[in-house]
Amino acid sequence: MSETGEPIRGPIDTTKTPRFAGPPTFALLPRRDEVGHCDVAIVGVPFDSGTSYRPGARFGPAAVRQGSRLLRPWHTALDVAPLTAQQVADAGDIACNPFDIKEAVDQIEAGAGALLEEAGRLLAIGGDHTIAYPLLRVARRRFGPVALVHFDAHLDTWQTYFGAPITHGTPFRRAAEEGLFLDGHSMHVGIRGPVYARRDLEEDAELGFRIVHAAELERIGVDGVVDRILQRVGDAPLYISIDIDVLDPAHAPGTGTPEAGGLTSRELLGILRGLAGKPLVGADVVEVSPAYDHAEMTTVAAAHVGFELLALMLLGRA
Ligand code: MN
Ligand code: MN
Repeated sequence: MSETGEPIRGPIDTTKTPRFAGPPTFALLPRRDEVGHCDVAIVGVPFDSGTSYRPGARFGPAAVRQGSRLLRPWHTALDVAPLTAQQVADAGDIACNPFDIKEAVDQIEAGAGALLEEAGRLLAIGGDHTIAYPLLRVARRRFGPVALVHFDAHLDTWQTYFGAPITHGTPFRRAAEEGLFLDGHSMHVGIRGPVYARRDLEEDAELGFRIVHAAELERIGVDGVVDRILQRVGDAPLYISIDIDVLDPAHAPGTGTPEAGGLTSRELLGILRGLAGKPLVGADVVEVSPAYDHAEMTTVAAAHVGFELLALMLLGRA
């Protein structure tokens, strides 16, 4: 049963329809218009006009859905059923203008806002990282300022790129300017690779972020990273934004701005599990660019990340 007492509609019956057939929804779940009450709406945001290097993340939502066909309902590590103990539904994609970033941001904000009026939580699948900016606006309006935990190889707090204020390298600078996240409770995880100058890191800290660098994981381990996040987040409402390039290119080659020395998919999934019980109010998984993928490696990883986020939303429900 869902919170309102309606029966929950889970994924299709895969004893009758094989997983490679059936609907092209995330994890073979029902569409949003096939259910009434909705605890979590999954929405695709096929926008990549904010990319600075390899494009193609506009094809991410459809590819991640395809990569999610093998997700089964029971979470063995957390002992819960993220797809059937709450009503999850696939709300399709938000249509946004590929030629006008400002208009696209407004369309994403409006589309996600409308969905969240009739759903408990949103899980967005990008699209490039630009989309986190309007999604944080929507989360802020509904839940107040959030503790932002941002998994990425990159800071994404640059001021502008080629003079453009809204790109996939700037969403958290714009979000900071609007007070969308709690600057005493937010952080980046997985940062690595060269930046333009030391000043980038200083400015990032001034915006309120703290960092767990990818290289620190080797020393403190998954549990150590989890401890750092839990201490930083406290009891604040949590928003998790995951750039799939936080994973090493060996685990997620299908992305726009690859950097060597990243997390394994096992490490990322383990860190997310460590956050079980925290009040996760929204999340996004972005920067999957399927044209650079091989054998669905990146889309399967992104799908499993989505499954972990659904488990956290279930376990973090008030
Ligand atoms: Mn990145
Ligand atoms: Mn990013």
